[in-house]
Amino acid sequence: MRKITICTLLIFAVLIQSCKFESEPTVKCYAWLSDLNDADDAILKKKFKKYKSEGIFGLMYNGGQNAEVYKRLGKIAKDAGLEFHAWIPTMVQADTSKIDTTWYAINGKGESAWNKPAYVEYYKFLCPNREEVYEFLKGMYLEMADVEELDGIHFDYIRFPDVILAEGLWKKYNLVMDREYPQFDYCYCDKCVNDFKQKTGINIKEVEDPSQLKEWKQFRYDLITNIVNRLSKEIRKKNKKVTAAVFPGPNSVAKRIVRQEWDKWDIDMVLPMHYNDFYLKDTKWIGAMCKEAVAARKDSIPIYSGLFICPKPSSKEKEKDPENHGLLPEELDDAISESIKNGAAGICLFTPERMTDKHWKVFRKAVRKQY
Ligand SMILES: [Zn+2]
Repeated sequence: MRKITICTLLIFAVLIQSCKFESEPTVKCYAWLSDLNDADDAILKKKFKKYKSEGIFGLMYNGGQNAEVYKRLGKIAKDAGLEFHAWIPTMVQADTSKIDTTWYAINGKGESAWNKPAYVEYYKFLCPNREEVYEFLKGMYLEMADVEELDGIHFDYIRFPDVILAEGLWKKYNLVMDREYPQFDYCYCDKCVNDFKQKTGINIKEVEDPSQLKEWKQFRYDLITNIVNRLSKEIRKKNKKVTAAVFPGPNSVAKRIVRQEWDKWDIDMVLPMHYNDFYLKDTKWIGAMCKEAVAARKDSIPIYSGLFICPKPSSKEKEKDPENHGLLPEELDDAISESIKNGAAGICLFTPERMTDKHWKVFRKAVRKQY
């Protein structure tokens, strides 16, 4: 009798062990999340526990510039076993009393992103060349970095406005972006124009087609790289990781359309937004972008492949707005597999709230496979 009991116990132990083994994800997965500042603790606890059990490792949470929000939600996320990062836009800033209207970027037609933003009302980009802008951002990020519950700071909109829009968005904005147009090209503020002149001897305002001038491109890549690296240095002093959501590439997309030379950024993780439908591409393209990213980052910091999820798969075909497109459940396994096989350290979902039951079913398996 005793032998049987021991035997049964052993079998149970083996079973429990193997179940546990099966339930541990092999793919590290982050998720971008927002709009839960007002949710109560019980709802957040339930939500975060679900994400953890599905296989999510950490959250990039956009809670605005409010340290108290990150403190409360961060505590609940940590209790659920999740990493927690504050996801806060960098160059895009709504005007507040802390920001002077003269700090906003100026386009090639001399218009300010403050009162004449490109494409959409919220595209109020600051000029990355202004010391006042750096000081404002430093103060804001360091205040957040003091929150004990945070693992890191996640930059977004750390770039210029899209001088060329991703092709999948042309219809939405009724544009054909066959070249760079001055109304979408930044920054031509006095400081940028003068600094460039001093550096190269060229008056950019007198150049007929600034898009052909390599030095002018590099000048603006460097402005973004410089502000990233300066902010990163300060934030890391507070023992927080620094990560960024970036455009794919960097060479094929990010540098070309938003002037992000992110292979030169001194940060801890890069999360390229491989939103294939915005570029009218399939999941193979996601793999190609991961390969390019890994090759570009010779220092081997981890690349997390950002995946854009379709919130209503059954009506995707009829949906005109690309914001409602994205990966269908039947594409998700491929998208994850393409990412990991091409060198990504993991993935990041945009967003878990857009995931349908069918998406979760595919996800659960896909992040637990051996690649
Ligand atoms: Zn400027």
